[in-house]
Amino acid sequence: MSDTLAEPVVRAAAEPDGLTTTDELTTTDGLTTTDELTTTDGLTTTDGPPEPDGLAEQPAGPSLSPSRAADFMTCPLLYRFRVIDRLPEPPSPAAARGTLVHAVLERLFDEPAGARTPAAARTLLPGQWDRLVAEVPTLAELFDDATEQVAWLDEAALMLDRYFTLEDPTRIEPSYREMSVQALLESGLTLRGYIDRLDIAPTGEIRIVDYKTGLAPREEYEARALFQMKFYALVLWRTRGTIPRLLQLVYLGNGELVRYAPDEADLLATERKINALWQAIDRATTSGDWRPRPSRLCEWCSYQALCPAYGGTPPPLPVPGAPVVP
Ligand code: SF4
Repeated sequence: MSDTLAEPVVRAAAEPDGLTTTDELTTTDGLTTTDELTTTDGLTTTDGPPEPDGLAEQPAGPSLSPSRAADFMTCPLLYRFRVIDRLPEPPSPAAARGTLVHAVLERLFDEPAGARTPAAARTLLPGQWDRLVAEVPTLAELFDDATEQVAWLDEAALMLDRYFTLEDPTRIEPSYREMSVQALLESGLTLRGYIDRLDIAPTGEIRIVDYKTGLAPREEYEARALFQMKFYALVLWRTRGTIPRLLQLVYLGNGELVRYAPDEADLLATERKINALWQAIDRATTSGDWRPRPSRLCEWCSYQALCPAYGGTPPPLPVPGAPVVP
């Protein structure tokens, strides 16, 4: 059975009043698309493995990326293992597939508009995989045999096919891909990260696009996914003075779009939340109290063996000092 031709589900992220919205965004090729955004119930959710942090240039003062902010919200001890202890994590097939699919989608837009086809995307797969393995040789050890690797690559190809049911890349000219962004808040905290794709219409309207290789979350878990997007929207607002028109999550695991139109109140609330989060991180750094917070996300945690919630013992904390966020 192929699900690559399934009708895409377009969902408006829940707004405070629960109403659906109709959003119109002029695409960069001058065409206008009108998307009737409706809410869809009953979706199953599988959050994939934690997404890796970007490697944005390190600012001099304290800084936070959405990935690490999400880590602390998920589990303070997870944040500690990643940021304070800097414990290595083995690569996983799911995380590697996410990296591979992102790489292909980034390079797809190097092709002339008319050549951005599903076949072209599939053609990019082997070369991008070879490039990733050359950069991180341990990726080659993810699979027990060639059959397993072929099945894994097939799943990546299906995700790329699914992408074409959600967007038409022949009608999109991204302004930026894998865009490194940073913004210094008045609190002294620098926000930083990478945006998968930024579309800027001739009218100046901005759309932030993020590709996810997992399934779209149920609406009750949507806030978590949207936090990352609002984080980026806040960074762009602070650096460009313009509130992005649309935040768009492209879920390639089940072929669904989630869209949200942020406003000033949203982004001010996001800024307050991030500052409060940083204060909590600062308190934990000072006190050394990094508590585990078990949840179903523990399933993807690389540190279960060191976690008291699973009978483990964390290593001694490194010598105190200002945390350096990787
Ligand atoms: S196993 Fe769960 S509770 Fe323990 S550190 Fe990992 S995410 Fe936190």
